Amino acid sequence: MRRSDSMEAKECVFCKIIEKKIPSKIVFEDEGAVAIEDVNPQAPVHILIVPKRHLISLLDIDGAEGDEIVRLFSIIPKLARLKGIAERGFRTVINSGKEAGQTVFHLHIHLLGGRPFHWPPG
Ligand code: 5GP
Ligand code: ZN
Repeated sequence: MRRSDSMEAKECVFCKIIEKKIPSKIVFEDEGAVAIEDVNPQAPVHILIVPKRHLISLLDIDGAEGDEIVRLFSIIPKLARLKGIAERGFRTVINSGKEAGQTVFHLHIHLLGGRPFHWPPG
């Protein structure tokens, strides 16, 4: 069974966005992923890069993905340049699990930019 057929995928907000069952501002799409504007942006640029396959978090990655993950990550520089944050710098975040602040349990990369970020993160 593909993960996208599972019970949790049916209730997943990002799967619904991918299937265009709920609206979102899509800034990029290819056969493996969509990138959308975050509905509650934490910076002038806040994009979520979401694989179309319903992976819950980084814990679902086991090395059998082929080039799926490389293709997913290759969207980051594309969008950073498109949004004009490549040169000044940007932050990427993947929250994994409740204590890290993950609230949508479908793997996604936050791409944040347009303001300074601090370290360590909060
Ligand atoms: P997490 O907390 O899981 O790392 O990130 C989930 C992100 O998804 C949050 O930044 C939140 O604002 C965003 N988000 C949640 N629901 C929606 C939605 O329906 N549409 C969009 N565009 N973003 C969403
Ligand atoms: Zn999903």
